[in-house]
Amino acid sequence: MNPATLAALEQIVGKTQTFTDPKVLETFSKDQYAFSPVLLELLRDKRADVVVAPSTREELLEVVKVCARDAVPVTLRGAGSGNYGQAVPMQGGVVLSLHRLNRILELDPQARTAKVEAGVRMGALERAAREVGCELRMYPSTWATATVGGFVGGGFGGVGSIEYGTLWDGLVLEATVLSVEADPKLRVLEGWDVLPVLHAYGTTAIIVDLKIALAPMTAWEEAVFSFESLEGAITFALEVAGNSDFVKREIGVSEWPIPQYFKPLIQAGGVRENRHQVMLELPDGVSKSLEGLAQSHGGTLDWHNSAANYHKSGTGSSFNLSDFSWNHTTLWAQKSDPGLTYTQARFEADKLLEGVAAIKAKYGAEVLMHLELIRENLSAGGTLVSASLPIIRFSTPERLFEIQAFLESISVQVADPHTFYLDGDSRWSGEVVLEGVKTFNPLGLLNPGKIRALEAGGEASVASSWFAGAK
Ligand code: FAD
Repeated sequence: MNPATLAALEQIVGKTQTFTDPKVLETFSKDQYAFSPVLLELLRDKRADVVVAPSTREELLEVVKVCARDAVPVTLRGAGSGNYGQAVPMQGGVVLSLHRLNRILELDPQARTAKVEAGVRMGALERAAREVGCELRMYPSTWATATVGGFVGGGFGGVGSIEYGTLWDGLVLEATVLSVEADPKLRVLEGWDVLPVLHAYGTTAIIVDLKIALAPMTAWEEAVFSFESLEGAITFALEVAGNSDFVKREIGVSEWPIPQYFKPLIQAGGVRENRHQVMLELPDGVSKSLEGLAQSHGGTLDWHNSAANYHKSGTGSSFNLSDFSWNHTTLWAQKSDPGLTYTQARFEADKLLEGVAAIKAKYGAEVLMHLELIRENLSAGGTLVSASLPIIRFSTPERLFEIQAFLESISVQVADPHTFYLDGDSRWSGEVVLEGVKTFNPLGLLNPGKIRALEAGGEASVASSWFAGAK
């Protein structure tokens, strides 16, 4: 890096927040892309030239001015927990870590909204919101470390999505964004105008702060049911999802032998051999009332953590049940067996059993089902779907892509987690993002190399088919 650029950056944030040590550069040039054996090969050598961590909006603005002046690529980073190399600097330059912009600016329990700086951790916000009778609508299973800006910039949905949908379902009410140009501008985007920054991998604009919608606080309990058959587990999960008598926060299904990877849950007596699992977060007392329904599908209630202990690891249990949900399921599987990887697949609820049966018939134990039931497209009434993360035994990239192609051939939509290209992810917002790049990132300095359509010879791929109806 040009020494004058480095000196200017040090001048703004101080030497202690400007990092060029190779070990720090390595850590901050990676996210959790190792979930994919394909990305592991493609991204392992990518390195930032410097990591910079501003702590105020003013410092951020000055850093951006220097980068624009000296044409230095800027890759934004929250906690770096993304799985597709979203926060990996493809062309060196600055990794701009926003974790010090971490103030909760406003919590309004009446309006049920929170205004936060982009670097606020989701876990910290959940705790603060619960103190005023609210809670997050949804959060990724990495909630303890993930930042709100990183979730909006690179995430999708998670715990709570069964009730409140995904990122495209009205979570973000307002985003203050900063453009990257010689004279950087702050702009407040509201309503659907926030679309260019949702799941855009920080390619359009820098999210400085966000106003997000909260939910009323519920006393949640956690429960694990297990079933003789996978069909029984899925049918039970779908019936719980369809019950409108109570709100839900989590409904996940894991085919046996996935539960054998959940070591802490095994120690707590929450895993039965050879049984397929359904994990639930429901209002206090509801799980017991579902035992009859579970029995009718060959199931039993195996483990339970009351609302008094919810999110208090160390008291009722040493974990939260969500530690085994979403991509944490994959994490536990890979910890025990590094030969495993995953994909991301969306099933229509009414075709779920049929789709799962077709996959099991073709691939058997090579593809293990892990399903997360969610609602999407809430403005049109909400549709129940399974946002699934099947665990796959990895052999070759070709076989992995063949499996994904088979899923698509039976009308299961795949959001490929083995590409770092935003426009290789079927959830991207297409033209909206490309317009956002033109408006807020006219010099092309934000996270360059992540949009194939912007590369020489690259073609614009078709925008999101997953959430085409969300608007
Ligand atoms: P980062 O990884 O740092 O960044 C993500 C993207 O957003 C990057 O492209 C980055 O450049 C961009 N970005 C960061 N900050 C800004 C900003 N201020 N302005 C604009 N762009 C920005 N994801 C889910 O959606 N649901 C899950 O349940 C889930 N579970 C996971 C489980 C595991 C075990 C792992 C490893 C990952 C999981 N993820 C999940 C992925 C990831 O943890 C989440 O999406 C998380 O919210 C990302 O937050 P982060 O702060 O780590 O973002």
